[in-house]
Amino acid sequence: MYIPFNKPYLTGKETDYIKEAVASGKISGDGIFTKKCHDFFTQKYGFKKCLLTTSCTDALEMAAILIDMQVGDEIIAPSYTFVSTVNAFVLRGAKVIFGDSEQHTPNIDANSIESLITPKTKAIVVVHYAGMACDMDKVMEIAHKYNLFVIEDAAQAVDSYYHGKPLGSIGHLAAFSFHETKNIISGEGGMLVINDEQFAQRAEIIREKGTNRSQFFRGEVDKYGWVDVGSSFLPSDIIAAFLYAQLENIEDIQKRRKEIWQKYHESLSLLETQGKIQLPKIPQSATNNAHMFYIICNNLAERSKLITFLKEKGIWAVFHYLSLHESPFYKDKHDGRELANCSKYADTLLRLPFFYELEDDKQNFVIENIIQFYS
Ligand SMILES: *Cc1c(COP(=O)(O)O)cnc(C)c1O
Repeated sequence: MYIPFNKPYLTGKETDYIKEAVASGKISGDGIFTKKCHDFFTQKYGFKKCLLTTSCTDALEMAAILIDMQVGDEIIAPSYTFVSTVNAFVLRGAKVIFGDSEQHTPNIDANSIESLITPKTKAIVVVHYAGMACDMDKVMEIAHKYNLFVIEDAAQAVDSYYHGKPLGSIGHLAAFSFHETKNIISGEGGMLVINDEQFAQRAEIIREKGTNRSQFFRGEVDKYGWVDVGSSFLPSDIIAAFLYAQLENIEDIQKRRKEIWQKYHESLSLLETQGKIQLPKIPQSATNNAHMFYIICNNLAERSKLITFLKEKGIWAVFHYLSLHESPFYKDKHDGRELANCSKYADTLLRLPFFYELEDDKQNFVIENIIQFYS
């Protein structure tokens, strides 16, 4: 048996749409499929403005430029996350003040944020881990009180909600990922969502190498030129064509992923009742978009043994996120605070094989082996 951790799912229309994009004669950015993807997101989720990017990392870098991050400014962000969440800001000279995770989820503990604010704080960057919402009411309340920007790293959070609001629609800016490990994919890919109108025009400029080319193509200016800093953040329409085939099938993709999630949860809940492992907790205000399924082991040694045990059966379960505050790059810059929950998740969280085409018998095999390991 070989059960990979992830397998990119193709809906079947991807290459048809790529051929269409190629046949249209325009395969650079902002072609017909890019527009279709933008319209899909603004209509389905009510996002004010969407701009496809080549990755979530790029969308986060755009966010850092848009909020005018300067050398010495600070951001507050979780330590238990992917490097891009903070690297995008560090690139512009930001100092990162890391917040701990909640006890019951890897999300940043919103109650700890206020004590981390200094006169230099410019933004709070939250990550909706496993697609489950952070305590956004609390985060937005603090942001208003101290006049801070909120950026949602919604890389894992497509089609997920907080008190009925789509994730990515709450902060001033939000970044999604369509990397092949996410629910909706285009190989590499991402999107910046602009919820605060003040950033809308500048976002287009920054994405187009610092030029007002988008306005020119809409006929709003009669020539285009260099008007700001910028880079090339827009994807080819070939990528957008692939992505659009996925978006058309989002209901089906989400339905199957939720079935897989539910089955893991039901089948492993006895182990949780017996106190042998812990399962993900969905916050009351949040929905579950079935981005991943993880279990929490008791300690690092046990998790390592379980990984080896599963690997010997051909099952690839993987851990992730070494705490960023203890990383080789940042440990000397961190202020020394212990982040106990973050360290706990770094040592004990294990992600199980999870992808659309995971067959029932293979999923059963994963479940049986985990139960066997703990018996
Ligand atoms: C996947 C991921 C990213 C990076 O996305 P890319 O599209 O690969 O740049 C950033 N943050 C989080 C939380 C992620 O899971």
